[in-house]
Parts: sequence; C-alpha cells; structure tokens
Amino acid sequence: MIRLHDTMTREKREFAPADPERITMYVCGPTVYGRAHIGNARPAVVFDTLARLIRHEFGGKSLVYARNVTDVDDKIIASAAAEGIDPSVITERFERFYLEDMGALGVQPPDIAPHATQEIAAMVAMIERLVGLGHAYEAEGHVLFAVGSWDDYGELSRRDRDAMIAGARVEVAPYKRDPADFVLWKPSADDVVGWDSPWGRGRPGWHVECSAMIANHLGETIDIHGGGLDLIFPHHENEIAQSRCTHAGAPLARFWVHNGFVDMGSEKMSKSLGNIITPNELLAQGHKGETLRLALLSAHYRQPLSWTEEVIGQAKANLDRLYRTAGDAEPGEVDAGVVEALSDDLNTPLALSRLMALDDPATVKASAALLGLLQGSAEHWFQGGEGGEGIEARITQRAEAKKNRDFAAADRIRDELKAEGIVLEDGPGGTTWRRE
Ligand SMILES: [Zn+2]
Repeated sequence: MIRLHDTMTREKREFAPADPERITMYVCGPTVYGRAHIGNARPAVVFDTLARLIRHEFGGKSLVYARNVTDVDDKIIASAAAEGIDPSVITERFERFYLEDMGALGVQPPDIAPHATQEIAAMVAMIERLVGLGHAYEAEGHVLFAVGSWDDYGELSRRDRDAMIAGARVEVAPYKRDPADFVLWKPSADDVVGWDSPWGRGRPGWHVECSAMIANHLGETIDIHGGGLDLIFPHHENEIAQSRCTHAGAPLARFWVHNGFVDMGSEKMSKSLGNIITPNELLAQGHKGETLRLALLSAHYRQPLSWTEEVIGQAKANLDRLYRTAGDAEPGEVDAGVVEALSDDLNTPLALSRLMALDDPATVKASAALLGLLQGSAEHWFQGGEGGEGIEARITQRAEAKKNRDFAAADRIRDELKAEGIVLEDGPGGTTWRRE
C-alpha cells in the first residue's frame, strides 16, 4: 500500500487510484527557453521515482504519466527576439537539452509529453466553455478568468484574498473586473507568435495549458497532480478553478503532490536570483548523472534540499559502495524494506539507508533500480567511462571555449571527440552529435 501526502487535505493518505489499471499522473513540465537548473531537476527525478514505485506496485502498464512542454511563453518570445530567430529554434534547442540533462539523471521520458503549441484548439475550446458558463469574460482582446465566479477559489493554497493578490503578483490592468482575475488568452502583435481565436489573434495564458492538456489526455479527474511547491499558488490554484468550472465541479486531482525547493545553502536556487547550477555544468565538472540523481533523492522530497559539495560527495561514496556490493549481478528480488520505505510517502532517505544495509548483490541491484540507481555496469562506474553525458559535457565546454574565443581549446575538444568516433554538427539550434 502506497501512502502519499496530499497538499489539498494536508495529510498523508492511502493512495487508492480510481482505476488501478489506468493510473493517471500529470506533472507540470519545463518552459523551454533556458537550461534546467538542479532545482528544476528535482521534480523530474522525484516523480520519475514515484512512477517507478507505482509501476512496481500496480504493474508495468498501470500508469499513464504526462509531463507537458511549455513551448509558447513571453520569456521564449523575448529570448527568440533577442537572438533574432524563430521561437521554435529556442524551444527545440532547450527541449532537447532538457531531455538530455534529465536522461543523464536516469529520468525516463514520460508516456505523454504534450506541447502547448500543439494543443491550442483544446485550450480555445476550454476558454469558450468558461466564457459560456460565465466564469470568464473578454476584455480588450484578453480573456480573463473571473475569480469571483468560483466560491472554492483558494482551496488548495488556503490563502486569504489579499495574500492571493499579493502572491499572484498579477498585473493590475484597467480591463480586469477584479485584480485577482487571471489571463486565459492574450492578444499577439503581428510580429509575435499567435493563433486565430474567437477573441482575435493571440496566444494562451500558461495556466490554461495544463488544464486543457489534462482533460485532453488523461481525463477530468486524475489520480496524481505533481510539481514544485512554488506552483501551488497561483498556478495549481488556477488550474483547479479552470478545470472544475469546466467539468461541473469535478475535482481535478485526487492527490496533490509537491516537492520542496533546492537551495544553495541559504537561499532558494532561482534564475532570478542568479544563483543556479545546472546538471549540465555539474556533468561538465566530471560528476556522473547517477551521483546527481542520488544527491537529489538524499532528502525527503517534501523537505528543502541544500545543494552542497558534501551532499554530492556523500552520494558518490554511497554509489561506490553500492556498485562494489552489487557488482554486475543480475537483478533478483526487490527488498521489502526498501519498498516499504518508498511506499511511505516516498521516504527516499530511509529507503537509501535500507539499501545500503543489504549485502546480497542481486537484491541490491533490483532494489536500487526502484530508485533509478545502479543502471550501468560496475565496470563502467569504476572506470569512469564516458557515456552520452560525458559527450554533452564536452560539447558545453567547447561552446564555452568558443564564446571565450579560445578556438584552440574548442578545436582540441572537437578532435578528441572525433578520435572517439563522435562527430559534432553545429547548427542554428546548437551543436548536436552523432556516432561515425
Ligand atoms: Zn501546470
């Protein structure tokens, strides 16, 4: 039996899916305009681990896991304009980087990865319905959700109205009936990406994207909705309002699962504070993806995680020991104690300590797999052999060298890779590689 902490009820409850043969989980995915930092990687790793546990408990085909790709957004538009290129070049580049970085951390791709730009029709249909039902209104080319039309607004975050308005940091626009109302659709200028709609050419707001995709791919009420703590308000609150108003009040999710922040010792890691470190940089420093994954799982997912050299060093030491114990054994039975720890609201620190205490190689190998660990061979681990992650890291080093006009270093990296049978190709979307 899996128990999960549900943010909506603020308690740990038994996880009983509506249909154990089709368990539905949605996690808010990346906005693809920059490299993911280690704080962004935490939900990817946490929900990947939860997916592994659910599949172990309910069966390999029991889960449909969707994680969206936000590929239309003001930050993407700004970034494309700055480089003088089409937004799709930015989004394709950074989606590829995201998948490579998460892949290096042992994160399996979700079953469904809906892209916002491919789901405009579903979003427009949902907005039309909300307007028709009196939950949204058009004003100066915008469509806004009328927060006052929904009595349960605030049920997830449990904030009072003033705190909600302050927390949403919403623009106080003259066309809003209420400052807390949020945008479902906004107009696009001629030189900005946009789609035709009943309200003119424009583009969707961010919140409606998730609501429309969930309804489109998973259903009205899903089993688990996940994301970082920072999404509770306003993003998830707004998703709930849109979805429940569209679907006659049906709950959006049975369980709301939120992971804590990663901090750099004292303050939250965030792009706006400029104190981020990315998996890509860490891989380039020579850390292995598996080490970063274990470091991310070393604290309970609801707790804050301080990203320090010590945490990384401990993860590496633990993996050294696990690989020494497991060797290249074929996976055997999964240890019941490890499953029990993970089933208790994904208690990864306890699962890890139980894993470290095991001595049967086959059991260690099978149990570690539940955490997405010991996925390579022991020989590869101890030799420090180069996989795809090493190649990506060296491509980044080469790009840095070129930026610093150190062309000799850039050429040296290219030649070294060529000697290993790796050919680099430079294009507008960045550098890609293939084997010769
Ligand atoms: Zn979302």
